[in-house]
Amino acid sequence: MGLAEIRDRIATEAKRVGRAPESVTLIAVSKVQPNERVEAVLMEGQRVFGENKVQEAAGKWPAFKERFEGVELHLIGPLQTNKARQAMELFDVIHTMDRPKLARTIARLSEELGHCPRLFVQVNTGEEPQKAGVMPAEADDFIKECRDLGLVIEGLMCIPPAEEEPSLHFALLRKIAERNGIEGLSMGMSGDFETAIAQGATHVRVGSAIFGERDYS
Ligand SMILES: *Cc1c(COP(=O)(O)O)cnc(C)c1O
Repeated sequence: MGLAEIRDRIATEAKRVGRAPESVTLIAVSKVQPNERVEAVLMEGQRVFGENKVQEAAGKWPAFKERFEGVELHLIGPLQTNKARQAMELFDVIHTMDRPKLARTIARLSEELGHCPRLFVQVNTGEEPQKAGVMPAEADDFIKECRDLGLVIEGLMCIPPAEEEPSLHFALLRKIAERNGIEGLSMGMSGDFETAIAQGATHVRVGSAIFGERDYS
């Protein structure tokens, strides 16, 4: 596949469901990918990237940011509070706000640092014990708690269970966002980003369909 084809498919699906193609931001998920592949995608003009580990991102993105202007980095993996400061210095957007302790840490650090990344709350729509995210029933309270700390919640994020129909999860995420007055919806990956766009995704996180399979060996 590759970047051009994914952009095409995003635009086609957006138009099909009566949305402006620009209303969907493509996050190219570069985790684990070799630097040559990431560089090739930067050369093609892509500037919005996602990483799921703070350490890995810190190892590769400062150098790319020096060479390519306008890079926007999104953290899409779980964040430990002891890595929050580093994450806030490196990332423009954090998609994985999911517990009060992390919210309090980010609120405190944003005063100290004088800036705060854009924030999404991760919702564990499938209520899977091994997955991060607030439970759907606790989402409203958590969002309120974040707001009470002075944090602006731009969107919600979910990762549906692998073996379930994703559209039900996307619909649930959208419902939670609507009743909390939240516009951003980070949902959809290589296998289901078109379904997510039809359900209102504002951010799709696409890795392997752009870069090729990840090699963990
Ligand atoms: C890895 C990852 C993706 C991208 O997955 P692909 O199937 O390769 O598109 C999206 N979102 C999150 C949270 C991820 O960890």
